[in-house]
Amino acid sequence: MHQPPLTRLAAQDPDIAGLVEAEAERQFAKIRLIASENYVSPAVLEATGSVLTNKYSEGYAGRRYYEGQQYVDPIERLAIERATSLFGVEHANVQPYSGSPANLAVYLAFCSPGDTVLGLSLPMGGHLTHGWTVSATGRWFNAVRYEVRRDTGRVDMDQVRDLALRERPKVIWCGGTAIPRTIDFPAFAEIARECGAVLAADVAHIAGLIAGGAHPSPAGHADVITTTTHKTLRGPRGAMILSAAEHAKAVDRAVFPGLQGGPHDHTTAAIAVALAEAARPDFAVYARTVVANARALADALLDLGYDLVSGGTDNHLVLIDLTNKGVPGKPAAQALDAAGLELNYNAVPFDPRKPFDPSGLRVGTAAVTTRGLTPAHMPAVAAWIDAVVTAAARGDADALAAVTARVAEEIRELLAGYPMPGWAPAPSPES
Ligand SMILES: *Cc1c(COP(=O)(O)O)cnc(C)c1O
Repeated sequence: MHQPPLTRLAAQDPDIAGLVEAEAERQFAKIRLIASENYVSPAVLEATGSVLTNKYSEGYAGRRYYEGQQYVDPIERLAIERATSLFGVEHANVQPYSGSPANLAVYLAFCSPGDTVLGLSLPMGGHLTHGWTVSATGRWFNAVRYEVRRDTGRVDMDQVRDLALRERPKVIWCGGTAIPRTIDFPAFAEIARECGAVLAADVAHIAGLIAGGAHPSPAGHADVITTTTHKTLRGPRGAMILSAAEHAKAVDRAVFPGLQGGPHDHTTAAIAVALAEAARPDFAVYARTVVANARALADALLDLGYDLVSGGTDNHLVLIDLTNKGVPGKPAAQALDAAGLELNYNAVPFDPRKPFDPSGLRVGTAAVTTRGLTPAHMPAVAAWIDAVVTAAARGDADALAAVTARVAEEIRELLAGYPMPGWAPAPSPES
């Protein structure tokens, strides 16, 4: 049952309450390997569900357009102080509604429409907002894209430098959504300096690893850092823009009034709570375990003959190329979901298949690590993945159904011993 129980919601709106309850139980019963997802703490859940959602506070602390900011101002100031201290930067804007609007604010702060920008191509692991064709950022700017190397699966830094010097972009983006390797922030900074570009590090996926000391920080290298707060950082849905003091005004103006209206104060409070959690020593242990789990999962998959982009991982994420397994990403992902392994199909670099049915799977270990799984569990996770993928590739529906049922049951048994914040099985009547 949902923790705390949704008694009022259940009484007033059983349709929604039932669906929320079912979603919570689904999150409990599955091995959640979607690399951008996590489980937030009960304290973050409480802040997110608080009366702060009732408040309007356009502007910034001490400079608001609405009265009644006696408590919202100190909440936002605390979130900012915690962000600057955790990430070692001079300025933080904690108001962006999510990662995509945070990135739009960077364009608004540093570019004009039609300017040239440089980012990692989406099918190579970049994000839509780094100038991909269908994104506003690819339509309103002259977006140039770098790629990864065919032989290594890693970002081609020679190409980044060549493109940067030839195209002279206003902004260079580093970071992305499917990069299994350490991002070389000093190398990007050197290239940005050489061509006079603003370096924007989008660390949405790895912010928690950076906070916990498990990935190098872009602070001191990137001019501006954007991040979501809800991936490895384990906070509410939201985002932040971090920078040196010299860019504070441009960034703040871009977020409000440039792009947004009132900040979501309940989210700001929950971000502050999550940042305090991420500053604790146990979060550093968490971040290291996330990486250790991803490494162990990658090693186990390699042992089973899986082809991993870049040959492994340095962070929380593993990108599997299923081409040699004889099944595309989408049917594999669907079969795995039915078996209790939730992940997403994903393009791999130089993917010959279409984006809606690509060759790969993306997995991440942020959520399973929050549940308490350790590297010792990863061979079993890899074996479950392999059993389902192998059965899906054979194309025998009955055999696949049998494997799916067995794996789902084994996963349910394992996860029963690993509590989840926000939901717990109802106590049995006799206890
Ligand atoms: C998730 C992500 C975003 C976008 O975040 P949303 O909150 O989904 O808008 C931006 N950049 C990167 C690299 C991401 O991984």
